[in-house]
Amino acid sequence: MIALSREFPSIFGAPAITVVDPRIFALRYFAECLACNHCADQCCQYGVDIDWANMETLRTLGPSFVDFIAVPPQEWFTTEIVHDPEFPSSAHARTRTRNGKCVFAETNGRGCRIHAYCLAHDLDYHLYKPLVSILFPLTFEAGALVPASEVLDGTLVCTGVGPTLYDAVRPELLAYFGEAFVAEVDALAARS
Ligand code: SF4
Repeated sequence: MIALSREFPSIFGAPAITVVDPRIFALRYFAECLACNHCADQCCQYGVDIDWANMETLRTLGPSFVDFIAVPPQEWFTTEIVHDPEFPSSAHARTRTRNGKCVFAETNGRGCRIHAYCLAHDLDYHLYKPLVSILFPLTFEAGALVPASEVLDGTLVCTGVGPTLYDAVRPELLAYFGEAFVAEVDALAARS
């Protein structure tokens, strides 16, 4: 692990990153997710951990969002609440799955309906889509920015070619952790 000069909290206050795993500068994946024609949105098959406040934010989008998702709100999330200080609310649940995919996955094509709804309604998807989904295939773990387990265990089908994990996710890291964070990690990437 490489220690950063200080702690970098996300725009939500958590998670906060203090170290980065150098493997994020070496491991690669396809990155242009919607241009892929063979993965069938594999990374959305298990659902995703979602912050407690994020769940409420989605519920407040109202009837037009409910219609867009086409799944009743009571079927969106698991009921078990997991306490985790790395999430903005210090608690998360999980998006449920249906027919082998996250309930928010598009069923008549590709992609995420939360993301699609935000684009269609001029909303910043960073405030609505689960943080864990946006950062994938990077993730956070005890203050470290690390490759997701699916990259490390080889179960993610699109690894091996394309940009590095860091280069691909850098715009999202900039959105959540800010310019000072990416400037410091850019310097680490250049030396790796
Ligand atoms: S929230 Fe969207 S991106 Fe995340 S797992 Fe569900 S469908 Fe995929």
